[in-house]
Amino acid sequence: MHQARTTCPYCGVGCGVLAHVDGDRLADVEGDGDHPANYGRLCVKGSALAETLGDHGRLTRPRVDGVEVDWDSALDTVAERLQTTRAAHGNQSVAAYLSGQLLTEDYYAANKLFKGFLGTPHLDTNSRLCMASAVAAYKRSLGADAVPCSYEDLEEAELVVLVGSNLAWNHPVLYQRLRTAKTRNPLMRVVVIDPRVTDSCEIADLYLGLRPGSDARLFNGLLAWMADKGKLDRVYLEKHTQGLDEALAASREDDISIEAIAADCDVDPERLETFFYWFASQLHVVTLYSQGINQSSSGTDKCNAIINCHLAGGKIGLPGAGPFSITGQPNAMGGREVGGLANQLAAHMDYDSPGALDRVRRFWTTASLVPTLPEGPGHKAVELFEAIERGEIQALWVMATNPAVSLPDANRVRAALAKCPLVIVSECMADTDLLPYADIVLPATSWSEKDGTVTNSERRISRQRGLLPPPGEARHDWWIISEVARRLGYGEAFAYAHPGEIFAEHARLSGFENDGERVFDISALCELDREGYDALAPIQWPVNAASPRGTTRLFEDGRFATPDGLARLIAVRPKGPAQALSEARPLRLNTGRVRDQWHTMTRTGRAPRLMNHRAEPFIEVAPEDAEAHGLGDQQLARLTGANGEYRGRVRVSKGQRRGEVFVPMHWTDRYSGMARMGSLLAAHVDPVSGQPESKHGAVALESL
Ligand code: SF4
Repeated sequence: MHQARTTCPYCGVGCGVLAHVDGDRLADVEGDGDHPANYGRLCVKGSALAETLGDHGRLTRPRVDGVEVDWDSALDTVAERLQTTRAAHGNQSVAAYLSGQLLTEDYYAANKLFKGFLGTPHLDTNSRLCMASAVAAYKRSLGADAVPCSYEDLEEAELVVLVGSNLAWNHPVLYQRLRTAKTRNPLMRVVVIDPRVTDSCEIADLYLGLRPGSDARLFNGLLAWMADKGKLDRVYLEKHTQGLDEALAASREDDISIEAIAADCDVDPERLETFFYWFASQLHVVTLYSQGINQSSSGTDKCNAIINCHLAGGKIGLPGAGPFSITGQPNAMGGREVGGLANQLAAHMDYDSPGALDRVRRFWTTASLVPTLPEGPGHKAVELFEAIERGEIQALWVMATNPAVSLPDANRVRAALAKCPLVIVSECMADTDLLPYADIVLPATSWSEKDGTVTNSERRISRQRGLLPPPGEARHDWWIISEVARRLGYGEAFAYAHPGEIFAEHARLSGFENDGERVFDISALCELDREGYDALAPIQWPVNAASPRGTTRLFEDGRFATPDGLARLIAVRPKGPAQALSEARPLRLNTGRVRDQWHTMTRTGRAPRLMNHRAEPFIEVAPEDAEAHGLGDQQLARLTGANGEYRGRVRVSKGQRRGEVFVPMHWTDRYSGMARMGSLLAAHVDPVSGQPESKHGAVALESL
């Protein structure tokens, strides 16, 4: 038996795990007491990791057109068909759809192959569904996709505002840290702003059960209230920001009386004013937000409305202060770092970043290869599948994700996949909803087999370590990508023998011609040799000559990543959900995770004790709505939405607002006849970020 350190593969908290390995078996796991994300804690999902492993149900052999083949044949076929597609339809007829489950090294290699050498910008990721609005808002206001805070700021705050986040279920260890901090500091206050009464409310001093989608109105109202009550930090605003007048003017286009804001948000005026007063009168405020803010057709504006209030009060760049977006997936941030969004190029550089195209081209040039970089951004997730539907994209490579389930209007996505002439899927599991659409299936390694890095929500890079041998012929994603690249003639640029070499190259690119104008810089890690990479301890970026030990908090000097160093307050005009309620579909649909499951349950569904919490698809309904529909608790019911239906057992809940229902995102056709929440949602996206509006569907409810 030996012990090894690795990182949990589930949520964006990124907890350190101590794995006890007995030969070829993971005997048990415990929290890593030395990891700064969790200091020894694990939630129920993390602590069940050892129970979710095993060769059973794994993909172990490559398949081409339904026939098992050896790796050489599979890789030759991938290369040949990609090349044939490009020759017939152009570089931009090929695309990739990646995942926040990939390790940074896999992500880097895929981004380099598609954008650098296949010459297509159409590489996007399921992180588009998770964090794209937060990314766009940080860029607009702070000048870079740079989360200012650390987890310890939650513990140092006087006021923590949870908005659009059920932290207790979705980021449980962070919730535990917050709860402990609150116990230690009785003066700390917690405010929960959420349409549903969730378990996170257990530690709330104040709860605002707002109308879904009214978040921007609420924070715009707060900005105006702070101005009217003399609570703006005029010195900070003058020195470090611009755009206050425009942001204030936009907020004043609506009635800014407490009564009017409370009516629009459907909250109690006294509670609302109490929140405003608490926020305005404390300096050390952290506003922590997640998918309840991001997954909206105006998610970027909502994020900016929050950031505006922090800038206006100088509540940023200080211990215990700042706007803090929490990622859903374990490596949503690592994917952003390498350029894994279609609007990014590489190493946090966008296509329109000054000099970026030329810089990346030169960096990826080898003795005999010059990259063919696309000139501009590619299709974001929803657009990508629309382009497939139109026949513009003829070849798609999906890695470590399941768009047949998770994207809105999922039936249309399935039709597009069925129509696509070439679908390549890199996958760990033998039975997913996506595999029937695959022409070529490539068995990939999974957590506990893979080696690489992930970055959590506080910019902390941690190692995931290979502990067990892969089952059958499963291979690492970076190896598969490099082998295809070699067959396409790009071997010189993909001559990697180990993921540590990819990480070092990624680190070099982050610092390449970077005089400090790009915040993402981990160039101090580019000299790591194999031993150093293996031993890499968790560290927060930037990690460069100026901060060789990493960086806990950003923007402490009040200088932001904009060209003039000033943060921007953004004029926000609140908008309601794009999916309109109607007589036919009168109920507002909210979607999300349950505590003990992850994504489509391919891993967590294997641990019986994780199924005990919520064992089947359900529909959470307010008592009044249940009665109006003649439904009792545990009765079977059907939701009908934009593009399909969902069947589940009714859970009557007093925490649910009247006129709204909630369903979990995890169940797919494999587990239940009809419980795919993606089929209920229309594909409306935020115009800035491209993030789908997954929190605001419109549905009808009836008994079965
Ligand atoms: Fe894993 Fe998230 Fe739980 Fe930590 S909180 S153990 S990262 S699922």
